[in-house]
Amino acid sequence: MRILVVEDEYKIANALKRGLSSEGYATDVAYNGDDGLANALNDPYDLVILDRMLPGGYDGIAIVSEMRKSKIMTPVLMLTAKDSIPDRVAGLDAGADDYMIKPFAFEELLARIRALTRSDENKTPDAKLEYKGLSLDLKTKLAFREGKSIELSLKEFSLLDYLLRNPEVVLTKQQIIDHVWDYDADILPNTVEAFIAMLRNKVDRPFEKGSYIQTIRGFGYKLEKRA
Ligand code: CA
Repeated sequence: MRILVVEDEYKIANALKRGLSSEGYATDVAYNGDDGLANALNDPYDLVILDRMLPGGYDGIAIVSEMRKSKIMTPVLMLTAKDSIPDRVAGLDAGADDYMIKPFAFEELLARIRALTRSDENKTPDAKLEYKGLSLDLKTKLAFREGKSIELSLKEFSLLDYLLRNPEVVLTKQQIIDHVWDYDADILPNTVEAFIAMLRNKVDRPFEKGSYIQTIRGFGYKLEKRA
């Protein structure tokens, strides 16, 4: 999953980038409202974390309003400096999905991110993604198949997370890059091939029969259970 953080306080912004990246989220940071709005409108994020007060022409409320006007329904988590009811109401009314009051505990932020990015099929209490016998624990970052646990690298985890959120959908390499890597990564399509191969070696290769990760020649990849 790819997250945009719009936050003008460098210390907080950089701590969020470090923390979220180490949890397997591809994370981009914008340090002012204008850059934040441009990113939010132009790149396919899975979640946007918006500070309420920002320098530049757009504050958090203005950004979420513009996103919703442009029919970008990406979940938005608003950060507010003070616990004031008018502040929270304004954010939620403008289209934010949730808010947190600074300072907050990182663990709570992670829990809210998991909640905001849960799909209807994945509203399980144990923060798990599952598709036909293949599952991924979002907290321990272990995959499970046929009762066996599978350890993944952080990038393999992010890749499998994206595949499991889009089962039986053909995903192009560009879509995969857009949701699994951040701006700074600057990766090439054959990097995707290399990571798919590594994931296959763990999720499909060790098992006697059946496969999940399918190559769709000329298009990309699809998570689909095949005998
Ligand atoms: Ca601020």
